[in-house]
Amino acid sequence: MKDCPAHDAPEDGQARREARPVICYPPEHLPPFDAAFYEAVRAGAELVDELIVPPRDARAFEVPAGHVFRIVSIEGPQVGDLNLWNARDLSERFFSGKTRALHGTHVSTGDRLWSSLPALRPLATVIHDTLDWYGWDEDGAGVHDVIGTRCDPYTNRLLAGTDYHHCCHSNLTRALAAGRSMDLLEAEAHIHDVLNVFMCTGFTRDSHQYFMKASPVRPGDFIEFFAEIDLLAALSACPGGDCGSAHSSDAAACYPLKVEILRPDPDTLKGWTPPAPNAYPRTHGAG
Ligand SMILES: [Zn+2]
Repeated sequence: MKDCPAHDAPEDGQARREARPVICYPPEHLPPFDAAFYEAVRAGAELVDELIVPPRDARAFEVPAGHVFRIVSIEGPQVGDLNLWNARDLSERFFSGKTRALHGTHVSTGDRLWSSLPALRPLATVIHDTLDWYGWDEDGAGVHDVIGTRCDPYTNRLLAGTDYHHCCHSNLTRALAAGRSMDLLEAEAHIHDVLNVFMCTGFTRDSHQYFMKASPVRPGDFIEFFAEIDLLAALSACPGGDCGSAHSSDAAACYPLKVEILRPDPDTLKGWTPPAPNAYPRTHGAG
């Protein structure tokens, strides 16, 4: 246990602790965020489709490359768990861990949602976020995290010893199965660590444990994404509601989420092309 070590610190322990932190992945080496381009896309976009994700349930939807999708809080504070895939190849999916390594524990305007290896390219870019005012609070929490995984019935069985079928993992599984005519087990294999939309989370300062607190989202708030490639998405309205108390149960007040899909004016996309898969040749030093 980290709080009751079995070993004394070595003589130079303090000196070892004082090594300088180095940012693992300097963001200045990433492709720059072209704010003017995305603002022009937003300004010329028209609503072409919308859907409602019912509370404690999920829905799958497709977003063509170059379109915008918006997740909107309606009726009450509600957290959403988002999965993203390349619509043409579900083996390329959102890579929460690398997104976290590149952009930090929480994302907002200008950050990319990166895809899994070997493609490792932006699936979507966050282009507007009405909760960007929140920043970091006194508990060290922020909004829209890429540190949580998703509530799931296996962890619930482990910790509570009971079965709950409307965790985000199960909601996303049912939604993907319905959206792509898969059986449940086939669909479940595609469900992955999420972007926790509107969720307010951090790590406790003393024990560094993952914590959640009531989301600051209110009806009318939204986060908006630009689809960099053809996307299949699934969004779950978490059974935790605003995630201010419990999840993996029917205890919390839950509300629907709205998804809006917008088609930009083609003139605003002139010169834009979807990002190519990563160029690494995959030889891994062999031969
Ligand atoms: Zn959940």
